[in-house]
Amino acid sequence: MGLVVQKFGGTSVADIAKIKNVAKKAIREKQAGNEVLVVLSAMAGETDRLIALAHQASETPDEREYDSLISTGEQVTISLLAMVLNEMGYPARSFLGFQVKILTDKAYKKARIAMIDTDVIRKELAKGKIVVVAGFQGVDEENNITTLGRGGSDTSAVALAAALNAQQCDIYTDVDGVYTTDPNICAKARRLDRISYDEMLEMAMTGAKVLQPRSVEMAKKYDVPLYVKSTFSDKGGTLVTKEDKDMEKEVVSGITYDRDQAKITVIHVPDKPGIAASLFTPLSERNISVDMIIQNASAEGFTDLTFTVSKKDVKEAQKIVEATAKVINAKSVDVDDDVAKVSIIGVGMVSHSGVAAKMFKTMSDEGINIMMISTSEIKISCIIKRKYTELAVMVLHDAFGLEKKK
Ligand code: ASP
Ligand code: MG
Repeated sequence: MGLVVQKFGGTSVADIAKIKNVAKKAIREKQAGNEVLVVLSAMAGETDRLIALAHQASETPDEREYDSLISTGEQVTISLLAMVLNEMGYPARSFLGFQVKILTDKAYKKARIAMIDTDVIRKELAKGKIVVVAGFQGVDEENNITTLGRGGSDTSAVALAAALNAQQCDIYTDVDGVYTTDPNICAKARRLDRISYDEMLEMAMTGAKVLQPRSVEMAKKYDVPLYVKSTFSDKGGTLVTKEDKDMEKEVVSGITYDRDQAKITVIHVPDKPGIAASLFTPLSERNISVDMIIQNASAEGFTDLTFTVSKKDVKEAQKIVEATAKVINAKSVDVDDDVAKVSIIGVGMVSHSGVAAKMFKTMSDEGINIMMISTSEIKISCIIKRKYTELAVMVLHDAFGLEKKK
């Protein structure tokens, strides 16, 4: 008998009928002889609704109260699921983060899990109960409620699976697995049977919405096998696991895009020590994360510096950067929020040459201009005009032979 952790996202618990469907999935694992721990998100749209309320209450909501508020959606779904399970004859018990004791640091809105006390859960499992835990939330050392960042229930599930040494962690969602690219924009997209942790992490970080990046990081660290499955169908599924030799055969495993990008260029910046620090420190102090950064080779002691931020941050970032630009004597600040990032990902890139060249040639054949490039061992990302996003994804999908296998 093993322990199975099942996590269900917002669309899987959107109403009572769907919660009953979730109950059936939990019961099936129980009937197969496993111990079952279910982690839930809030009903679809609920966390957004709570966030909107917070902003109606205050322009800059107090962070402690903000986390208390936005974590409540999960309290609703876990208690409903426990009721449904009990009603169906399978004893169940729900727990909030603080009741388990999912201890986190104090970083509201993006807390990190420090420790999970597994005693209460083990006790209930030993009694044969199905345990249902609220995702997305924890508690700090001073008993303040914290949240783990949007999409954080994935991380709750993986952390619980790691802490309890579960045999597997199933992430149930509204798609039946991880695809070579978004099937909504590329009909030829193919579901992957397996993908490595590192590839999944890059995909999650460059725009694939299926898993929260931090959950993948944690799954890799603690060697938790992750299955991405559909709540609504028993077919398919993708296993996220350790890299193996087969995975290296494919040069590129996936293509992602992120339309939530804006590009800021600081023009004619004096090229001297401390300039990058003076530009980026005030941004990080405001919690604005900077993605790609490019500094041009300098000419006569001056250079241009271009970087990207999330579109939602661009107005604030522009204000901050314009203020800094004055102080450091830059000429001007240029903002382009009509861009997108397209990335190709694959562990096979390490051992194949010419991948970047092929990517650039494929885009240039379509007349797509590349504005910025960044690379890692297993990923190449390009910033392009937003209107070319779909086109770029489709031609790259073809060029790297990712289409459905016949
Ligand atoms: N309910 C939270 C959110 O919407 C956590 C999650 O869904 O994973 O971000
Ligand atoms: Mg999610």
